[in-house]
Amino acid sequence: MANLVFDRDSRTSMDTLCTDLSQLDRLDEQAILQQLKARYEADQIYTKCGDILIAINPCKELPIFSEKEHEEHDWKNYSPDGVPHVFHIAGRAYQQMREMHANQVILVSGESGSGKTESTKLMVKHFVHMCHGGSKEFHDKIVKINPLLEAFGNAKTVMNHNSSRFAKYLELSFREDGHMTGAVVRDYMIEKSRVVLQNESEGNFHIFYSLFAGAPPERMRELNLKSAANYKIMQSCSSLLSKEQTRMYKKMYEEQMDVLESLDMEIEELDNIHFILAAIIHLTEVTFIDSQGTEGGVDIVNSQPDGPLGIAADLLDLQLESLGHALISMTTDFAGTVVRRFKSMEQAEDGRDAMAKALYERLFGWLVRQINQDIHPQKKRGESAASIGILDIAGFEKMKTNSFEQLCINMVNERLQNFMNDCLFKIELAIYKDEGIAMDNITFENNDPTIELFMKPKSSTLRPGSECTKRIFRQTRSAFARVELPSDIPCSVAKYGVFRRRHWIWYDADQFLEKNRDMLSKELVNCLKGSTNELISDLFTIKKGPTGTISATQYNWRASRKGPVPVLPHPKGRLTSKLAQLACDLRGTLVNKCGKVDGPALTKLTASKDHKTVVSYFQQSMSDLLGKMRVAEPFFIRCIKPNFGLVPKNFEDQKVLEQLVYTGVTGIAKIRRDGYAVRRDYPYFLLRYCRPLWPDAAKLSDTKEATRLVLLKSIPQSYHQDFRLGKYKVFMKEHVSVCMEKLLFKK
Ligand code: ATP
Ligand code: MG
Repeated sequence: MANLVFDRDSRTSMDTLCTDLSQLDRLDEQAILQQLKARYEADQIYTKCGDILIAINPCKELPIFSEKEHEEHDWKNYSPDGVPHVFHIAGRAYQQMREMHANQVILVSGESGSGKTESTKLMVKHFVHMCHGGSKEFHDKIVKINPLLEAFGNAKTVMNHNSSRFAKYLELSFREDGHMTGAVVRDYMIEKSRVVLQNESEGNFHIFYSLFAGAPPERMRELNLKSAANYKIMQSCSSLLSKEQTRMYKKMYEEQMDVLESLDMEIEELDNIHFILAAIIHLTEVTFIDSQGTEGGVDIVNSQPDGPLGIAADLLDLQLESLGHALISMTTDFAGTVVRRFKSMEQAEDGRDAMAKALYERLFGWLVRQINQDIHPQKKRGESAASIGILDIAGFEKMKTNSFEQLCINMVNERLQNFMNDCLFKIELAIYKDEGIAMDNITFENNDPTIELFMKPKSSTLRPGSECTKRIFRQTRSAFARVELPSDIPCSVAKYGVFRRRHWIWYDADQFLEKNRDMLSKELVNCLKGSTNELISDLFTIKKGPTGTISATQYNWRASRKGPVPVLPHPKGRLTSKLAQLACDLRGTLVNKCGKVDGPALTKLTASKDHKTVVSYFQQSMSDLLGKMRVAEPFFIRCIKPNFGLVPKNFEDQKVLEQLVYTGVTGIAKIRRDGYAVRRDYPYFLLRYCRPLWPDAAKLSDTKEATRLVLLKSIPQSYHQDFRLGKYKVFMKEHVSVCMEKLLFKK
């Protein structure tokens, strides 16, 4: 504690640790940092920043999630000035959902390893706790599906041993009386490239390790699998194959099988999951050699039935020959004449990997649909319901070498940050302006230019020298001008710094094009569709999901079909623009160190623009998600990682400061201190407070005047400056609202 500097009489002294940053006397980054540090060292990991919750990963178990805390933060005991806690946010969302009968959404953000997924799971447990009386079996299921989703969607990375490699939006549905009636999981943006390629010291998806560790010998024989170390996609992280890890994965496998069985999976379906996983492992072992024939192209090294190709074909119920043909050749239609061509080595390897990735992606999508079928809300006719959504995405990543996967994940994080800026700053400031309420000195890091550069569709074709290319070039140049290039970057590798001033990150653009291409040739799709295994054939055929939605994974394929451009249902009921308009990709990043646009690469990308890219799929998924979030009441949880290695009792100032800056915590604290965080429509305010507290005022026809009277009569004089009456709403500081709530509770 000796190194902490506190203002003598500010509220930041150790005696009075401040639970709300917006109440601090000094509101700068240092003061906030020191306050968070002091709290963290006292195991107080949660701190409010107005109505936003800051959660610092404790990196150790804390005894603050027991029955006692569940009880304390039950919505019935809800008090706005309650202790900051992740249960408190859940309690508030639940209370608001019940009282306003409106959908709520909780956005959990923070960099990789900051604790988003853990916070999400804790909240789910709290929701289950709050709606006692529902089906115990169903409540158990809601909690249990998480480990299953994590087995298929999480992996060890250098930033987090259990890192989410997909975005999950869990929508819990409630009846008017507060009972949970069901849930829907929506999966987005699974990082399928991990199936075939992992960075050094990183792992494949957990499910592969648990399969090797836990599947009984007879199952392994059936799948034709030996030990994990024999297979390419299992080798990147040897520590995951250690004895200790194997023990852990064995346990995980047993749990996964239990959950799958509790989802009423049939034996055949369980078999299919195993077959597809094993087929992926064998398929990625298929290798090619340059063909000795006159037609050029490549041959498969071992196309015997007991070789990797034969085993994969057998597991997928495909004809060995048709799979072999689809892997090494393609057909082109020349004015009605179908011509068969052989693939180059690169094309054949790309195709093989694309097939493995597609199989995994669709298996994951199918699993999510199976889960949804089981937990889908059971709504009776005429029954009104509201939902609470929780969004948990893959967190921001900044590594020694950042590649395409980091760029995709970080773009999504930027977009979410942009949405939060909209909610917390832009809309807020616009509302105050509209209502004539002065609000100066509020600044925040606006990331619109980054979004503009990466997310917005660029309609013009990007050719070297075109106007659009020049624009990107100019923007890139200006970005370069603001930083010094690290001296160790090889000239031949295109690098590009994208993010904001205080938050630079370099991307190694090597393989960007290959990774962005997401081509599963029609030959491979047709081959898989021809499987005699109904599930596998179905995975590559469009069907509506149980919720009537088209899953992201199916959607990806749908877009690559020929024919009229499909349209997707918009969350608000409108139809989204044509997919063609979304064919925006990473062209803007193809700028080499000297600021020159990489011409051949651009041409290559432009040439492949008919195909859907990974980036455009991410963009579409993100737009879909944002559409959902815009129509609900948002809550925000900012998770913070105290140190890189997730070591307990280690609060690294610099590491935390960096996160505070790019998430704009200081600005949020200021806007919450100077602003009026709680706002209520007049009719709602009067319904809630006027009738029970001041029935006489309810007789007034002027709702604004009635609200003013109620407030003046209820709150102490010293608070009279702390509310404003707008055109349609009353704006209150948090303590005014707390005061009103307390009066209500006393009644
Ligand atoms: P990613 O973006 O990589 O998915 P994340 O933000 O979801 O990261 P988590 O997986 O939730 O991060 O947390 C990383 C690890 O930190 C957890 O596996 C756990 O060990 C620890 N952790 C996080 N939150 C808590 C908590 N509340 N109590 C104890 N440990 C925690
Ligand atoms: Mg996570």
